[in-house]
Amino acid sequence: MSSKMLKFVTTQKVTPPKRDASQRVDDFDEIYDDFELKTAEDQASRCSQCGVPFCQTNCPLHNNIPDWLMLTAEGRMEEAYRLSSQTNNMPEICGRICPQDRLCEGSCVIEKGFESVTIGAVEKHITETAFENGWVKPAAPTIERPESIGIVGAGPAGLAAAEMLRHKGYQVTIYDRYDRAGGLLIYGIPGFKLEKHVVERRQKLLEDGGVTFKLNTDIGVDMAFDEIRAAHNAVLIATGVYKARDIAAPGSGLDGIVPALDYLTASNRKSLGDVVVKFDSGELNAEGKDVVVIGGGDTAMDCVRTAIRQNARSVSCLYRRDRANMPGSQREVNNAEEEGVDFKWLSAPQAFMGDGTVRAVQAQRIHLGQVDATGRQVPQAIEGSSHDLPADMVIKALGFDPEDVPVMFGEEALAVSKWGTLSIDWRTMMTSLHGVFAAGDIVRGASLVVWGVRDGRDAAEQIDQWITAEITATPAQMANA
Ligand code: FAD
Ligand code: SF4
Ligand code: SF4
Repeated sequence: MSSKMLKFVTTQKVTPPKRDASQRVDDFDEIYDDFELKTAEDQASRCSQCGVPFCQTNCPLHNNIPDWLMLTAEGRMEEAYRLSSQTNNMPEICGRICPQDRLCEGSCVIEKGFESVTIGAVEKHITETAFENGWVKPAAPTIERPESIGIVGAGPAGLAAAEMLRHKGYQVTIYDRYDRAGGLLIYGIPGFKLEKHVVERRQKLLEDGGVTFKLNTDIGVDMAFDEIRAAHNAVLIATGVYKARDIAAPGSGLDGIVPALDYLTASNRKSLGDVVVKFDSGELNAEGKDVVVIGGGDTAMDCVRTAIRQNARSVSCLYRRDRANMPGSQREVNNAEEEGVDFKWLSAPQAFMGDGTVRAVQAQRIHLGQVDATGRQVPQAIEGSSHDLPADMVIKALGFDPEDVPVMFGEEALAVSKWGTLSIDWRTMMTSLHGVFAAGDIVRGASLVVWGVRDGRDAAEQIDQWITAEITATPAQMANA
């Protein structure tokens, strides 16, 4: 083993420099800086090079973490990049926004006594170094294949699949209803977690590698799903989940109560320089308002921190469970607290008060009761605990369900699960329609970017195998298929 490694006993864990809260709330730039080269090498050298690396097992992409940490520690950055990019199509993005505490770093064996290796930050550093040095190249297939693949959805799942299919020489077209590629990477996740030029850089690489983007193309509205199927040898559906869950409480129809994604999209568009009428009119702008965000996941965290940056008068987050039981990453909760968000744990909305426009949220205190079948304690309202919170703007961040894809695409034969996600055969990633595959949130339900990348890669592999088998199949085999 390299003498550079196993330094966790003598080298303290260091996280990347984080801008002070008082400074970072003035803009939408990322709050973490990149490691300096020396720090990245030192931090990578803390790895104990486990024979059975649990970090790798618990990374959805099974990244070869110990090996690229060793290459980094030895200063062999180009090799580290080559290795890390073999298993991940967007390592610099995952390095920034994976909830590492629940994935790779949460499984790092030195966590207990010495605090985990900063895997995500090193992964980001490797790829940023690669971009700076021109090592990141567009796909350049050795042979061009005549078959074409249509991908509906330019989020992480669609983009990862597109890159893998281009590497294999397929002609790839991505359709998206938005005017920009990236899906939730561009319009959901705010710039303070992921600056937009990082996403645009990936799109450009794909374009340079020969992927065609047809944006502003809503499949089912601007173009029929049938047309896509007719135009391509195989189709991948990677449309994500966008139907916002709602609250059934008195007053929920008042003006000023807005869905999280509308709010975040308006803010992201504004940062990208677009004219956003509902932002300029104040409808989707928190400036000067008392803002209450309802929910405890990543989306809620992104909303509270966006409202702080828009100069809201006050920002509170209402969540019916306690801090330990929140679905959102603890790192993001800490960041939100530092930035001035007031968390109202164990609180739930009962009604919304106002005359046309919301003026207050009537909330009640919650007690966590018995554990239910899902293993979580059931929230129970505490009688007589109602109280009002002033609110000129309420943001609903309660999660997302899939849209009705069979109806959206006019394809009743497209099978869905009881949750409305697309049903696939997990071995082949194929839906109930011959030659139509699916990947990402539309299959898993609201998930993570890294799972989208994993699914996109798996789908690309399965599409390749399926097309190759179709081409070589005899007429009799095809008749039986
Ligand atoms: P999406 O990213 O949703 O992309 C789907 C694309 O399909 C979109 O571009 C959409 O316009 C397009 N589309 C949909 N229907 C059609 C149609 N009919 N025709 C054409 N195009 C269509 N994950 C993390 O790992 N870390 C985070 O910090 C994190 N933060 C998040 C913050 C927010 C606010 C949200 C909402 C999610 C967050 N996630 C995070 C989750 C992550 O963004 C998603 O799991 C991931 O983007 C899913 O990828 P996808 O490719 O399946 O779908
Ligand atoms: Fe960790 Fe995510 Fe990178 Fe995997 S992709 S090593 S989970 S940061
Ligand atoms: Fe290194 Fe931690 Fe992974 Fe072990 S679990 S190989 S120490 S990063």
